[in-house]
This record gives sequence, C-alpha cells and structure tokens, in this order.
Amino acid sequence: MQSPSITAALALALLTAGCAASSHQTRPTDLGTPTTSGALRAAATTPGPVKLTRIVAADWAVDRSGLINLDHPTAEAHGLEDGEEPIQIYAYAIEHPTRGRFLVDTGVAAAFRDADTAPVSSLVASAMNLEKLEVHVDTAEWLAANGPLAGVFLTHIHLDHIMGLPDVPDAVPVYTGPGESEASAFLNMFTQGTTDALVGDIELQTWRFEPDPDGALHGVLDIFGDGTVFALYVPGHTPGSTAFLVRTPEGPALLVGDACHTDWGWDHGVEPGTFNNDLDGAARSLKRLQALAATIPGLTVHLGHQPHTVETAAVRRSLTP
Ligand SMILES: [Zn+2]
Repeated sequence: MQSPSITAALALALLTAGCAASSHQTRPTDLGTPTTSGALRAAATTPGPVKLTRIVAADWAVDRSGLINLDHPTAEAHGLEDGEEPIQIYAYAIEHPTRGRFLVDTGVAAAFRDADTAPVSSLVASAMNLEKLEVHVDTAEWLAANGPLAGVFLTHIHLDHIMGLPDVPDAVPVYTGPGESEASAFLNMFTQGTTDALVGDIELQTWRFEPDPDGALHGVLDIFGDGTVFALYVPGHTPGSTAFLVRTPEGPALLVGDACHTDWGWDHGVEPGTFNNDLDGAARSLKRLQALAATIPGLTVHLGHQPHTVETAAVRRSLTP
C-alpha cells in the first residue's frame, strides 16, 4: 500500500514529463512533407480513401484534475471538482490504400490483462490505478485478427499510449513528435524504466515539423505526401504532442490525442490539468486546434480518452465569447 502522497507523486510522474521519458535513441524521420494548415483545411473538404477504425482497448478511471484544468475559470464556474473520471484507452487503425495499415497509439498489450504479468513495477501499477483497468481487446489479439502493421504513430509517449507496444513487432517503425523521449523534469525518474520496458528495442523516429506558414498551428505534415493523413504539431501536454487528421470516405476525422482527454474539456474549451508538461502550452494548442476544427465542415472529433458527444457546431458556439 503506497502512502497517498507517494501515489499522487507517482501518478503525476506517469502522466507528465520526467527526467527523461525514455532513454531511447531517436532519429528524425524522412516520412512526412511540411505543409500548411490552409492546405490541410482545403484537402479536408473532400472525402478521402483512408479507412479509420477506433479500437476501444480498455475502460479505466483516473483523477479528473489530471484530465481537466480545474483551476480554469470555466471549470470553476461550473463547480467542477476532483474525483475519479471514467475514461477509455483507444488505438486507431488507419488503412491507407497503398501504404498499408498503421496504428495511432497502441491500445493495451495482452500482458496487461493480468496485474501479475503487467510489465510495470508494482509501484507504477498502483500509481496508474491499474486495478481499474478493464481490457476489452488487447493489441496482440487485434493484430492477429487484422493483419500486420506498416507503422505506429504515437500522439505522445505517456504510458497509457504505449501500453500496447510490447505486442507490436520490433521491426514496425514507430513515429513520435520531437522532444518526446528527451523531455526532462524530475518526476519521470520513477517511470523511465517502465517506459523503456514498454518501448523495448524499438528506435523512435521523430517528425520533422516546420512552422505552419499560415500560423494556425505549430506545424503540419502531410504524412504520405498525398493529402490523405496529416500530423498536427500541438505541443504542451507533452513537448512533442501530435494530433492527426485523416480523410476517410465518410469525411474528415481529427484524432486529438491528449491535447484534450475529455468530452467536457472539448465542449468547454478547457485544457488538460495536472497531467500536462506545460499547462500554458497545452491551453494554447487546444485553442488553436479547436479554432481549426471549427472551420472544417463535417469533421468528426476523436478525443484522447472519451467518446465525443457534441457536434462541431456546438464546439463553435462554446468558443464564441
Ligand atoms: Zn492519455
């Protein structure tokens, strides 16, 4: 049994940047062509060829104060208080007609089905509230049923987004935002070993973002160079946090990652809370992302850890002062 203060510190460590999130080598990737938010917006107006599937890997629960900035005036005005918030862990499958199948984030590895085999220390398991983790589909069984991967795109490398990596073959390239594994702060000294264990021998490849000439985002990459899947640089929650826009036959879909974990947070324009590396940066990136999202007709928004229940029009209304 951990003392509450140690458990709280560890929980924070798990979901914020640390002395180094991981000790892994990274190298900049050649994948992805710098483009503009204007080009992304123009492309998003027509349906695309990429099949998108959301995989609900697990149900879970964590502290609301980590997921939503409870000190934000809007949260205070609504009387939002701390407590356990039910969330889910997702992965998304992207099937490109010629480039193959990719995962955005990784779901949950089979080893996490049993607390005794989970590849994390008991300290970390306790701080992560792993006893509340209810796995629906593990990454090994999903891959066995759906076939091999051409790559994995990580929104960031917090533990709840790389829990499926042990089930991903080492040869599969894994892409992440710049500065993710090098992010430094004190608390991650507790979790670096766990992060390293999950990442295994995989070399992380980092996106080469360049400033968005249109100024709407920090950077935009056209991942395959054909205008079908875009990486959006949204630093703040972590230094390399990345969102993705996917053009599907049903219309554009935005995977925001933990730029916004919750339905309430998106609906009310309130950034994540204590799980952020940089609260102000997270707030700025969420504003920019929501402003962009509001200009894309028919956009389906997929949040970090909860289903999205409001229409884009409602988001637009909530952004109107
Ligand atoms: Zn997360």
